[in-house]
Amino acid sequence: MTTFFELNLGKKIQQAISDMGFEEPSPIQAQCIPVVLTGSDVIGQAQTGTGKTAAFGIPLIEMAGPSKHVQALILTPTRELAIQVAGELRKIAKYKRTRTLPIYGGQSIGSQIRTLQQGVQIVIGTPGRILDHLRRGTLKLDKLKTLVLDEADEMLDMGFIEDIEAILKETPEDRQTLLFSATMPYEVKNLSKRYMNNPQNVSINRGEVTVPLIEQVYYKVLERTKLESLSRIIDSEEVELGIIFCRTKRGVDELTDALMSRGYLADGLHGDLSQAQRDRVMRKFRHTEIQLLVATDVAARGIDVENVTHVINFDIPQDPESYVHRIGRTGRAGKHGLALTLVTPPEFKLLKQIEKETKAKLISKEVPSLADVAER
Ligand code: ADP
Ligand code: MG
Repeated sequence: MTTFFELNLGKKIQQAISDMGFEEPSPIQAQCIPVVLTGSDVIGQAQTGTGKTAAFGIPLIEMAGPSKHVQALILTPTRELAIQVAGELRKIAKYKRTRTLPIYGGQSIGSQIRTLQQGVQIVIGTPGRILDHLRRGTLKLDKLKTLVLDEADEMLDMGFIEDIEAILKETPEDRQTLLFSATMPYEVKNLSKRYMNNPQNVSINRGEVTVPLIEQVYYKVLERTKLESLSRIIDSEEVELGIIFCRTKRGVDELTDALMSRGYLADGLHGDLSQAQRDRVMRKFRHTEIQLLVATDVAARGIDVENVTHVINFDIPQDPESYVHRIGRTGRAGKHGLALTLVTPPEFKLLKQIEKETKAKLISKEVPSLADVAER
C-alpha cells in the first residue's frame, strides 16, 4: 500500500490533496503518478470512478513550472467534462497556484483569449474549440510538455480523430503523451501508439471492466408501455438521484416532458441546448435541485456527480463501451450504485453482446405491478 507521502510530492500538493479529503491514493493513482513523473508516456486504464483524473492531474501540477507558456493540454470529449476536470485540477493546484483554464465551445471566445494572454500553464478543453484557438493564433502549444487524452478511446473515435491529429501537429514531437480511459478497445490502443513514444501500460482492471460496486439489473419491457414501466421502476426503486439515458436528443426532450408532467423533478441534457442551458442543468443536478437528469451519451463519459444512486438506460446503449461508461456514473469512489437497463424484445441481442463483452451478469427483474408500486 502506497501513501501520498511516499509519492514524494511537493508540500503544497500534499496539503491540497489532504484538503480534498483524499486519504490514500487509489490503485491507478499509486501506479501512475510515479511513472508520469518520470516523463514516460502512459496508457492508463482503470474502471470508472477510480480516480483517473487525479492520476494525471497530480503529476501535471507537480511538474508545472513557473513559465507562463502552456505546459500541459488535456483534451476531453465533452464540455461538461472539461469544466469538471478543470475544477479538480484547480483544487490540486490550490496552494501551488498553477494557472489552469477550461476552454470549450459555446462560451465567449473573447474572454478565453483575454485569459490566455495573461498566461495559462494548463489548458483543459474540447478539441473543436482548442483547434479554433490554434488557428486564430490565440493558443500556442510549441512549448507543450504533456498532452493528455482523457476518455482516450472516445477521443480517438472516428468523430474526433482529425481534430486530434491537427492539434498534435502543433505540439513538439518530444512531448509526453498520456491516455486514460476505463475502456481501451484493441484497435484504439494500437492506433494511439502512433502518437506515443514507448508508452508504459498501467492497467488496473484485470479483465473486469465494470466495478463490482454497481449492481446491474435489466427489465423486459414493451416499447408501447416503456414510459409506464420506467415510472414504476423509479417509484419502486426509490431513485434518489438518477441519470436516465436516451438514445437521441429528441428522445431526451420527450422523456423529460413526460416525466415532468408525471410530477418528477427532471431536466434534460443534450448537445443541442445552449451552453448556458447545459450549465444550468448540470448545476441543478449537482445541487440536487433536480432528481432525474435525462441525457444523451453526452453525459456518459467522465461525469462525476456525488451520490448518484441510479443509472437507468431507458434506451439500451448501442455498444458495450457506452454501457460501461453510462453505468459508471454511479458506484464511484467506493460507493454503491444501481444500473437498470430497459430492454425491448428486439434489443435482446444488444443485451447479450453487452454481457459478453463486459463479462458482467445482469440480473433480470420484473417491472413492478401497479399494486407493488402502490404498496410503497
Ligand atoms: P474516473 O476518472 O476514474 O472515472 P474520477 O477521477 O472522476 O474517476 O474520480 C471519481 C471520484 O473519486 C471523484 O469525486 C474524485 O474526487 C474522487 N477521488 C479521486 N481520487 C480519490 C482518492 N485518492 N481518495 C478519495 N476520493 C478520490
Ligand atoms: Mg475520468
